[in-house]
Amino acid sequence: MDYQLLKKKLLEKGIKITDDMIDKLDRYATLLVEKNNEFNLTAITKKEEIIEKHFYDSILCGTIHNFKEDNVIDVGTGAGFPGIPLKIVFPEIKLTLLEATKKKCNFLGNIVDELNLKNVIVINNRAEEYINEKREFYDVVIARAVAPLNILLELCIPYIKVDGIMLAMKGKQGLKELKVSQKAVKKLNLDVIFLEPMYLETDKVERYNIIFKKKANTPIKYPRPYSQIKGKPL
Ligand code: SAH
Repeated sequence: MDYQLLKKKLLEKGIKITDDMIDKLDRYATLLVEKNNEFNLTAITKKEEIIEKHFYDSILCGTIHNFKEDNVIDVGTGAGFPGIPLKIVFPEIKLTLLEATKKKCNFLGNIVDELNLKNVIVINNRAEEYINEKREFYDVVIARAVAPLNILLELCIPYIKVDGIMLAMKGKQGLKELKVSQKAVKKLNLDVIFLEPMYLETDKVERYNIIFKKKANTPIKYPRPYSQIKGKPL
């Protein structure tokens, strides 16, 4: 996929990308390729692939949720996905990028500076630790490729306010993961409000973006210590 196709596909779905946004995305892609050796950031290193599998995939989230001025946390953002492309295209959001690996956070800090992104903070911490500072604070928590859904829900849901949403970007196993997460959905007081397969252009494997809405406060015992979350998932 090139930038013109990205622009066209997103416009068909109601998202308008300006030349300035494309310029920012391309500077991001260039730095991602350049710094990949140093920071070990991504398996995807060709620009056409970055545009489709990182940018298009991330920005598609804007077709299923209207981000407006939301306070958003991207948990396990890695090299910045989906948070940074979303910030470039929806500049009004207030974004927290949470990432456990220091090296990746250094890269993210460079990107925020280079692209002059406002209202973005990079936090080098684990989700189950940082929660102590920002419990039930955000409107939206989002995560791609971080952990199986039942584990991910326990890590992420405590971050959002009641009526806030969690957007889980899942692969083709998304439906299966949702089935085994029924207990987590109940214990964490969630409703599933969106569940549909999404497709990229060349990669025709379906993926599921699932949106959960939080109906009531999360019991204070969640998230449990990581060894328990992992050893005995909800
Ligand atoms: N979301 C990015 C990165 C996926 S890789 C993308 O889709 O490209 C998963 C990332 O989550 C890794 O960078 C890892 O360091 C981070 N991670 C895993 N568990 C975490 C946790 N408990 N808290 C914070 N970050 C975590």
